[in-house]
Amino acid sequence: MYGGAIQQNRGVEEGPGFRELGLSEQSLRVLERLGFEFPTEIQRRVIPLALEGRDVIGLAETGSGKTAAFSLPLIERLRREGRAVILSPTREIALQTMAFLQNFTGRPSRAAAAEPGRPGAAGADSPPSGRGSARRGRRRRRTRQELRAGLAAAQVGGEPGPRDADADLDEAALGLDVEEPTPDRQLDAACLIGGVRIGGQFDQLERTPSLVVATPGRLLDHSERGTIDLSQFDELVLDEADHMLDLGFLPQIQRVMQRLPERRRTLFFSATMPQQIENLVRRFLVDPVTVDLRPDNSAAAGLEHRLYLVDEENKKPCILSLLEHVEGSTLVFTRRKSDAEWLCKVLEAGGHPVERIHSDRSQTHRVRALKSFREGENRILVATDVAARGIDIPTIAHVVNFDLPETVEDYVHRAGRTARGAASGVVSSIGTWMDKAIVRSIERTLGAPLERCEAPGVAAYEERQKRLAARRRSPLRR
Ligand code: AMP
Repeated sequence: MYGGAIQQNRGVEEGPGFRELGLSEQSLRVLERLGFEFPTEIQRRVIPLALEGRDVIGLAETGSGKTAAFSLPLIERLRREGRAVILSPTREIALQTMAFLQNFTGRPSRAAAAEPGRPGAAGADSPPSGRGSARRGRRRRRTRQELRAGLAAAQVGGEPGPRDADADLDEAALGLDVEEPTPDRQLDAACLIGGVRIGGQFDQLERTPSLVVATPGRLLDHSERGTIDLSQFDELVLDEADHMLDLGFLPQIQRVMQRLPERRRTLFFSATMPQQIENLVRRFLVDPVTVDLRPDNSAAAGLEHRLYLVDEENKKPCILSLLEHVEGSTLVFTRRKSDAEWLCKVLEAGGHPVERIHSDRSQTHRVRALKSFREGENRILVATDVAARGIDIPTIAHVVNFDLPETVEDYVHRAGRTARGAASGVVSSIGTWMDKAIVRSIERTLGAPLERCEAPGVAAYEERQKRLAARRRSPLRR
């Protein structure tokens, strides 16, 4: 279900490697399999602090390697004890996080199971294939299931199922012949997002997952139905907190935080630090350490920003020309959902393989569109700002603003969809005279003018000449 391939960024070679950050052999092996050779800066800074148990505020853009920065220390801790909630602003980001976590959860892969030197792991005295420990894992799960069935019959109300530690006690109390607990817990993750049937999520929660990745609305829905008891979760990750504010999730976040136990650890990530976020942090985090990796100009390096000024009626020929002349996988932004629909049809009629995502599309459609874009089946994806938040597809070469965004923050977020990690990319904005104010604000933020360009075969809007010509004709001009 969570088919998002983990794409490659590049870590930074200088400085401590993943091993020196204090990660276990098990995790190191998974990272090697994923091709994560060196940690990124945010990983290098956050992982040791989080392993120490500190609350951390990470200020960094999407694309900086945040997911692994919070997931890796969580995984280390949860293998021993505790439960964690990861709050994501959108379903897409939740699914991407889930895809990353699933490299570490479920039945251990041969590589993960075969950690030498750990009791119960495949090593010198167990089969090299690691089948021995996998078989032990299966037997243990059956014993639990049988036990749960028995206990469920005796249970009236209360929690949907016992926690692992409780189950051990109950097994002992019932005098059942159970195996010794394995030193590392098997991790299990559930994904609670809106826009999909809630029924399947009950089944996931029945398994008492150690990790829950959720969007705020659906998590509260479960909490109110009693299908999740948030007081049992002692680790919290808030990912992209500023996006959550943009989407109006602040009240939901506060309610979630109030329902979690007071003694917990919190890892808090945001690309910006507006006042409301500062308030949230002051209220809910304990003595946090801040890791601030915000770039000075708040837009990724390696990016080329181009501006195509045209008359309104030339926007369509302009984008068709750009798609013809700039190669590579292209993400196109429109302001409104109706425009995304319209533009998709225009591009299709122009012979382009294209898909679209916006909030009126069902979750199934959005996942399918992202997958076909990610896998190169459709070179072009048309999106609105909200739907495209946090899209992580490192192969995006070209971002086109068919409509300029309303705010500079949106421009920076859109631009951040390309040139991810150490890659380079192009952001082309198609503007009309109406966009002059936002263009000026963007240029002020970037600290440089957007390069004025002309799309082949499309007349550029010649503001100065037009004004001069008009003045020349004016009878008032001397
Ligand atoms: P994120 O900021 O977590 O969305 O990560 C951006 C992209 O970089 C994702 O495609 C990750 O799979 C990839 N990535 C993160 N950390 C590393 C690393 N240390 N080495 C290689 N790729 C990475």
